[in-house]
Amino acid sequence: MDSWATQTELIELAPRRHTILIVDDEPSNIRALGEILKADYRILVAPTGLEALRTVEATIPDLVLLDIMMPVMDGFTVYRHLKEKPEFNHVPIIFVTSSADIENETKALADGAVDFISKPLSPPVVRARVKVHLALKDRNDELVRLVSVDSLTGIANRRAFDNALAMEWQRAWRVRAPLVIAMIDIDHFKLYNDCYGHQAGDECLRMVAVALKDQASRGSDVVARYGGEEFSAILPGCSTDNMAELAERMRASISDLAIPHAASPTSGVATISIGMACLALSCDGTAYPQAAEAARAGASRLVNSADQALYQAKKMGRNCAVCVTEPMADFR
Ligand code: GH3
Ligand code: MG
Ligand code: MG
Repeated sequence: MDSWATQTELIELAPRRHTILIVDDEPSNIRALGEILKADYRILVAPTGLEALRTVEATIPDLVLLDIMMPVMDGFTVYRHLKEKPEFNHVPIIFVTSSADIENETKALADGAVDFISKPLSPPVVRARVKVHLALKDRNDELVRLVSVDSLTGIANRRAFDNALAMEWQRAWRVRAPLVIAMIDIDHFKLYNDCYGHQAGDECLRMVAVALKDQASRGSDVVARYGGEEFSAILPGCSTDNMAELAERMRASISDLAIPHAASPTSGVATISIGMACLALSCDGTAYPQAAEAARAGASRLVNSADQALYQAKKMGRNCAVCVTEPMADFR
């Protein structure tokens, strides 16, 4: 072992092991595919379509090998359910079937499957196809990452915020957990630029971004640069009670940076105003708004509520937070 390499560096240098989900009702097929792939990948198996849908609730695989002919729920149906999930946008799904008829193959590819493998399985062909599609997925993931980052601050950009919101909105309704949206705006930032110059302004934006991200640091939290000197956050699972406390921590974290702002009528240091809106979901049997259009409209209403709350915070004198709770009945 090279002496310079610490344990952490070694872990980061090791290639990430991809996870492959095999969905097949025939145990011998699962075993055969597992044998071919287990040396190189982490394998998850599901003997039915329903089991596959349950499995992906806990783990999103990097690739799915999906049998077409299965009782109760066939591969095409499983495929449709998987692709309804935003998390599956970039997950390649390869159909596997013994009936290598042209009709099924054409339908699979027309539906958006990336490839088709027919039985009897050829181990080198299976390995090669899986390898090609995982390499393409890695490249795609990297591109998605690059277009999701704000180049000035290094945090998520508006586009990433919108995508994450669509995903978290659906998840919140599925698991009936509360969801908080925060809109955050630097106070008197025009005066800051006028006083210290645009480059100092940029540096201030970077410091604020890092500090906000430190406060919302759960795995599923997203802090984004919404535009200009405005930031936004998605805080899944944050309840009405936690919301005010988190808002206060965010507010304090910025004034504690003590970035001088001599031109600010509010304070001698840079400060932020915050608007937060919590969608309080509970298990009262309210139907989940399935349609993507309804989900988009609901999510954008919650953003709007947070924006109104931010406007109130500005009116109340800045360097403060206003938090509102939206009852789920209004979002049906
Ligand atoms: P308020 O307290 O009401 O929010 O006042 P404000 O001055 O912060 O708000 P206003 O919307 O009038 O001004 C926002 C300023 O943010 C003006 C703009 O030049 C500055 N700004 C937006 N994006 C950037 C950026 O990328 N870098 C820098 N340095 N400044 C930016
Ligand atoms: Mg501002
Ligand atoms: Mg603004």
